[in-house]
This record gives sequence, C-alpha cells and structure tokens, in this order.
Amino acid sequence: MSGTRGTRVLVLNSGSSSVKYQLLDMGGGGRLALGLVERIGEQSSRLKHTPLATGGEAREWTGPIADHDAALKAVAEELARDGLGLDSPELAAIGHRVVHGGQTFTEPTVIDEAVLAEIERLIPVAPLHNPANLTGIRTARALRPDLPQVAVFDTAFHTTMPESAARYAIDVEIADAHRIRRYGFHGTSHAYVSRATAKLLGKDPSEANVIVLHLGNGASASAVRGGKCVDTSMGLTPLEGLVMGTRSGDMDPAVIFHLMRVGKMSTDEIDTLLNKKSGLIGLCGDNDMREIRRRIDEGDERAQLAFDIYIHRLKKYIGAYCAVLGRVDAIAFTAGVGENAAPVREAAVAGLEQLGLLLDAELNAVRGDEPRLISPANSRVAVAVVPTDEELEIATQTYALVGEESN
Ligand code: ADP
Repeated sequence: MSGTRGTRVLVLNSGSSSVKYQLLDMGGGGRLALGLVERIGEQSSRLKHTPLATGGEAREWTGPIADHDAALKAVAEELARDGLGLDSPELAAIGHRVVHGGQTFTEPTVIDEAVLAEIERLIPVAPLHNPANLTGIRTARALRPDLPQVAVFDTAFHTTMPESAARYAIDVEIADAHRIRRYGFHGTSHAYVSRATAKLLGKDPSEANVIVLHLGNGASASAVRGGKCVDTSMGLTPLEGLVMGTRSGDMDPAVIFHLMRVGKMSTDEIDTLLNKKSGLIGLCGDNDMREIRRRIDEGDERAQLAFDIYIHRLKKYIGAYCAVLGRVDAIAFTAGVGENAAPVREAAVAGLEQLGLLLDAELNAVRGDEPRLISPANSRVAVAVVPTDEELEIATQTYALVGEESN
C-alpha cells in the first residue's frame, strides 16, 4: 500500500430501494461505522446509522429520500458527524457488492467505463440486481470521482466450477446464445467461510475440502475443493437449489408450464410466486426460522411440514456434495439460520453417521460469534458454525486490489 493512501474502505451494497454500508479500517482499526438506508424513493425512507468508532448510540432518521444520490449524501453526512467524512484522505477505496459478474468477472475488479458497460451487458441475466448495483456505483463515482472503486462479484467464487457442474443439460447452442448456465451466488460468503473453516481446522485452504451451507433468507450450498468452488446450489438465478425463506429452490421446470397452461398464470405472476411467495413462507406463511420454531413448539403442523421439507432438501445437498467432493473435511453452517438455529443444524446432520458426520448436542447448543466446531473429536467430518462476514471480505478484496495497483 502506498504511503499516501489511507486505510479506510467503504463497502456499499446497493439494492433497488436500499443501500447497506460499512466503513472499515483495514489498518487495524476494525469496523468504524455501519448502517442502512431503506425505502428509497418513498415518503417514509429510513436511515439507520451506527457509529462504532465513537461508541455512540445508533441514530435513526425517517423522511423522504428521493434516490440513491440523496441516500449516499445522507450517509456521507452521518459519517461526517462522526469525523469519518467521505472526503477524508483516510478513505482508500469504495468496494461495491455486484451480484452478477457472468463469466467475465472471475475476480474483484477496479471499476472503469468498460467494467460498467460489461455489468450493464449482464442485466438480462440479473434484471433485479445489476441495475441497482450500477446505480450505487455511478452515485458513488459522482461523489468521489478521484477514488478507486472496486466491484466484488457474488458470482466470482463460482467461476471455477467445471463445465460438468456449470452447464444445464439443454441444447448447447440455445444455452450459449442466451448465456444460460449455472453461475451461483453468495460467492463472497462461500469464499470467506470456506477459508475460515480451513483455518479452524488448522489447514491451508488449498488442502481442505469443505461443504458450506449459507442459510439466510436466501440460502445456498457449495462444494469447495482445496479452496476452489466445484459446485453450488444456485444456478442461472438465485432461485435454484435449497428451500429458502421465500424461494422454492429445486422443482420440476414443468411446474411452470402447468401453471401457465392450466393455472392461466402470467410469466410475471409465476416469477413472483416462485421467488417471493414460495419456500418457507409459501409452505407455512412465515419465512423467519425463529417464528417457525416457535410454532412447531406449539404443535403447529404446517410449520412442522415446512421445516421438514427445508431439512429434507438440505440433507440431499449435503449427501450430493459429499459425493461430488469424495473426501470431505468439514461442513460449515453460516448466515442467519446457519449461525443461530441449532435445531436446523441438528436435523440436517441427523442420521448421516454413515457419511462420517456426528454432532455434539452440547456444543451445538452454545451460542457465539466466533467460528467453532460442533462435532465431537471422533467425527470423521468436522461440523462447524462459521459466522460469515461479506462486508469484511469485500473490504479485504478491495483493499488488496487497490494496494496492488498503487505499488
Ligand atoms: P439475508 O442476508 O439473506 O437477508 P440473514 O443471513 O440475515 O439473511 O438471515 C436472516 C434469517 O435468519 C431470518 O429470516 C431468520 O430466518 C434467520 N434467523 C436469524 N436469527 C435467528 C435465530 N436466532 N434463530 C433462528 N433463525 C434466525
């Protein structure tokens, strides 16, 4: 890193009506501030800012924030109140989460006009996410045109998947003409957690075979061999794979034809059904695992069935990825459900002794923020809980790249 540049990195995760942000000091100062602007474009936009560096109280503000430009300016003002203004020479770079990098972007990339054009070209395969990410990038570039800005792609970690895992078994020419293949998502989390799991085992990532189960509201599994992704459960879009909070995951594609022909539903209606009204919420009316567990404890059968379907799918992926990897060193649970829901972890590995998986009920019940093993010492495959930190991973990758460029 050059002596003239600062050590702070602002991480931005721009959605269509929200911006999540964190300011990190990569020189050892840790997380300085974090926050969220939501309902951008509405009268009741909300900004919540937590100034970690000063140890001050979180500040919340509700009122109209017209667009991303106004949102970022409001964030900049909040940061300036803590002496962390975006005009500070301490700020080294801005790292942006970008959902879809297609086959083009296999690594974090310093943003220029050509990179912006390519992210734009990928909009047809990521119609909901890439436009919002682009808006965030353009806004940040307008605010600090002099500052290096880096795109960190959700898909990048999965670009090492072999063709046998990345291709769908459909006509090759049609697939290629429309760039239809399995890209996978949550890659930043899978990369971070697989590395952290190897470290927990005392191994170099290049020596460890790990199955990562990222179970948040969106959920995905990945098979990581020696630090490289060889398969993942999400596909062309995040709809494929595990049962999620509101997404169906795997399903016979003919269900769609049936809904069109017999159910007389439109493409958009089916899109909404499968992405927003399916999964746990479609099965039982709740997508929050805490609420589902509470209902199960009260004897609610629909909640129990939703839980059972969720676990059944998860088990199938664990088994499949054991087969894909051949030798498995560890299974790591991460994200909101994976890190917090002990009953999900217990049910997911129950009965998998033949695959070498054992769980220690006491260790599984312990809560904590640090990576930890929840399997007994005699488990052939280690079972771990490894909290994810996508923002730290984006900041680390951004800082490493900017450091390289300035040397
Ligand atoms: P995302 O980033 O996909 O929005 P998160 O990784 O933050 O999701 O996970 C959110 C989900 O985590 C919630 O919908 C809820 O189901 C689950 N969750 C959070 N805390 C707990 C908890 N203490 N017990 C069980 N599930 C939890």
